[in-house]
Amino acid sequence: MTTEKTEHTEKGNHMKAIDNQITFPRFFFVLLLPCLLCLPWSTSAAPNIVIILADDLGYGDLGCYGSPNIRTPNLDRMAAQGLRFTDFYSAAEVCTPSRAALLTGRYPIRSGMCNDQHRVIRNISTGGLPADEITLPQALKTRGYATACIGKWHLGNWAINPAYHPRKYGFDFYFGLPHSNDMNPTNAPPRATSRLDQDPKWWNAPLYRNEELIERPTDQTQLTRRYTEEAVKFIHENKSRPFFLYLPHSFPHVPLFASEKFRGKSARGLYGDVVEELDWSVGEVLKTLRAEGLETNTLVFFTSDNGPWLIMDQSGGSAGPLRDGKGSTWEGGMRVPGIAWWPGRIQPQVQREFACMMDLFTTSLKLAGADAPKDRAVDGVDIAPLLFGTGKWEREAFFFYRGTQLYAARLGPWKANLITRTGYGPEKPQTNSPPLLFNVAQDPSERFNVASNHTDIIAEIELAVAKHRATIKPVKNQLIDPPTSAPRKVAVP
Ligand code: MG
Repeated sequence: MTTEKTEHTEKGNHMKAIDNQITFPRFFFVLLLPCLLCLPWSTSAAPNIVIILADDLGYGDLGCYGSPNIRTPNLDRMAAQGLRFTDFYSAAEVCTPSRAALLTGRYPIRSGMCNDQHRVIRNISTGGLPADEITLPQALKTRGYATACIGKWHLGNWAINPAYHPRKYGFDFYFGLPHSNDMNPTNAPPRATSRLDQDPKWWNAPLYRNEELIERPTDQTQLTRRYTEEAVKFIHENKSRPFFLYLPHSFPHVPLFASEKFRGKSARGLYGDVVEELDWSVGEVLKTLRAEGLETNTLVFFTSDNGPWLIMDQSGGSAGPLRDGKGSTWEGGMRVPGIAWWPGRIQPQVQREFACMMDLFTTSLKLAGADAPKDRAVDGVDIAPLLFGTGKWEREAFFFYRGTQLYAARLGPWKANLITRTGYGPEKPQTNSPPLLFNVAQDPSERFNVASNHTDIIAEIELAVAKHRATIKPVKNQLIDPPTSAPRKVAVP
């Protein structure tokens, strides 16, 4: 028995040894090799990410969104080859908070980047995006991305505080204007009498390359062309590594300027000229990606920071069938064009589920293999399953803020307007009790209030609002300007 047991034990040990010989290669191929492959080379498979942001472009300003008189063949083709959202939302109703949310994935109320008075960073503002926010380029850099911001920044004046320069937030390269193109009227008479003045000599916007002021006043007629050339150059220079290109155009924010090639060409007048030049710019970016063979490994997303500035008359855009425009939490203020393009990965489709700008933050991080920050609330969700048709995504409700105030919430096709107000003008905010309820999938113009028929839906939305409000912590408001008694330096951009 003892011998048999010993033999059995020896046989067992022998088998274990054989097993170990088999197990190690198996371990190597199944577990270790993929890990090794993932370590230093992980970023080579990471997709490039390009976000092109128009400024104040309306829902109805592109051919593929129904414009009758603005020609946008490149964006129309991008939409036909990719995914066009019918219900894509900017994160806010005006420029600064929207951009803060895009780059942080968080409602601007969380970073203090919204305000009820001036609503945006002005050229005398001393605040800016807090340094402890984690931005999209910062997160992507941890995965080896090259990063560039080419265009309008509007998240802090670095001439007042150098900490607000885009290169302090994870961008390797910057080219553009620090804020809106109307924020530097000339001081000497004759001055521009309104934002609609198109005489270039009345505007004194500064143009920067990285930290260097390279032109003032900026020749705004050449701005779209120059942004485009810089973007194309950045793509060529970084074709061999993953890159993040953030291209926030200065137009069609007023005052409007188009280059010679486009001026006077559109049936829509100067506004159409400007949008048609932006369309050309998108075409150049996509053409460059194709020329470099990068189109099958690049997500390109085109959208707008907020709706059209309707009070600018013909210099403002169109919200199409939507109610109101920029500055408002009616659909026209925040529902904007949203087009995703990635040949071979995103199938051509029109997507009617809703998504929002903050989702681009979380989705980009997931695609790059980086986790979203875990030590803070992140409001963007990963919409990759929606883009690629691979399953469910996580978004439940979306909240519409005007400045620091929550005005409305959307859940599924339903939107409850707790407070309503036009984007600009003397009208006072109106608190609605019960909230106005619209099925915005059926009624995007928000014409038919169906609150009395759907008290259950209103209760559900109010519960979602209460849950969301419980997550908001007080922070310093970054958009409060210095007191008027304080000396203001005029020599700021
Ligand atoms: Mg804007």
